[in-house]
Amino acid sequence: MTLIRRTPLIAGNWKMYKTEEQAEDYIQALLPRVSATAGVDVALCVPFTDLRAMIDSARGSRVEVYAQNMHEEPEGAFTGEVSAPMLRELDVRGVVLGHSERRGMFGETDKALALKVPAALAAGLAPILCVGETEQERDNDDTDRKLRQQIKEDLAAVPGERLADVVIAYEPIWAIGTGRVATPEQAQEAIAFIRALVADRDEHAAERVRILYGGSVKPENAAELLALTDVDGALVGGASLEAEPFAAIVAAAARPSTTATGPSPTR
Ligand code: PEP
Repeated sequence: MTLIRRTPLIAGNWKMYKTEEQAEDYIQALLPRVSATAGVDVALCVPFTDLRAMIDSARGSRVEVYAQNMHEEPEGAFTGEVSAPMLRELDVRGVVLGHSERRGMFGETDKALALKVPAALAAGLAPILCVGETEQERDNDDTDRKLRQQIKEDLAAVPGERLADVVIAYEPIWAIGTGRVATPEQAQEAIAFIRALVADRDEHAAERVRILYGGSVKPENAAELLALTDVDGALVGGASLEAEPFAAIVAAAARPSTTATGPSPTR
């Protein structure tokens, strides 16, 4: 069996923060800080209103620009929604899908995600699919069941040969924005479990698919989490809002470029 080295991905999730002007200041501060780091992919998942400015400012750099949501249909009478082809036309590289804030506050269902993930891939967007358990589910030993259900349902319509084009983010809900980070053992165990679930569908895809950890990642804990066997990067909320800590997390993930041969997600 050939050893597949997966290129780590550090993705910042700005949530509903930053006007276009603030975003512009941020990217000018970030670019020089990450330009020399090798062997790591860098993404910023920004509000819709920041997309065009960030794409223009990041063009030609190592920073890729992602959206934070999209509708599954390419167009239609869906007031307030944005479609995958609309994002692609702007040169958006990918999209976060199923973040727990969208699942919890805006009623995003596994049924909708089962349509959104393949719609993103079909349009040429790289989806970052978020999954994870609540604190109560963890306490009730229900973590595996929850992860199995989300992975099974959300990826049901993605064919085996496209599974590795999806990035999966394991984000225990109790660790998001709380300052409580999963222990390395908890993160490794859950992410290895998710990889095994992908292997049930397609073993080759499981070796190539990138699985991120998300939940209170900071410069101080990033290196330990990113060193775990199955952890292929991080989805970073709060610590991505300032260029300096975000660049420090990118640096913690950097690998010598000569050894990085991971998947090249769909453009
Ligand atoms: C997130 O928003 O996906 C996230 C992980 O947030 P934080 O890093 O602030 O916990």
